[in-house]
Amino acid sequence: MQIVCCDLEGIFVPEIWINVAEKTGIKELRLTTRDISDYDVLMQKRLALLDENGLKIEDIKAVIATMNPLEGAAEFLEWLRSCTQVIVVSDTFVQFARPLMKKLGWPTLFCHTLSIAPDGTITGYNLRQQDSKRHAVIALKSLYYKTIAVGDSYNDITMLKEADTGILHNPPENVKNEFPEFPLSYSFDELKAILKNILTNNIS
Ligand SMILES: [Mg+2]
Repeated sequence: MQIVCCDLEGIFVPEIWINVAEKTGIKELRLTTRDISDYDVLMQKRLALLDENGLKIEDIKAVIATMNPLEGAAEFLEWLRSCTQVIVVSDTFVQFARPLMKKLGWPTLFCHTLSIAPDGTITGYNLRQQDSKRHAVIALKSLYYKTIAVGDSYNDITMLKEADTGILHNPPENVKNEFPEFPLSYSFDELKAILKNILTNNIS
């Protein structure tokens, strides 16, 4: 039995924080896991910036509501889910992800949660567990699944290394150069071709 763990941002949807940066004009919010590899450092910086600028959860949700999946993402995901089991494994938060999950046909999502005060202030974030993407793969392997992981950035690397097969999809140059061991795809057609070679059952 095979199962695919796919990252969300940069694979199926645009980077949420980059969109928030553009819509709010707060340039520092453009930094992502592509720029700062320590997720805690990155998130503390983001939350401090939101606080300094008086932005609440509804402001962020309003931005996310304007976002759409990347071109071809919903169709690709539908194809993949017709071939095998798929879990979207993300470092985003349940509160952010829901509108995008709806546009992707509600795939299974493993991610984190935000702590939100009654006035809508985002007071903190709660990781489901440390190194959660890798642990999702470890758990699936303990259930005797053959695992395939797809990601684009630093926060996917331990998941890609842990999986039986790891694939980098649309990585930035620095990630691609640092981890040349992973197969690469730059379009859903290329990703589909790689997966078709790996997936052994029910390929259409
Ligand atoms: Mg990503």
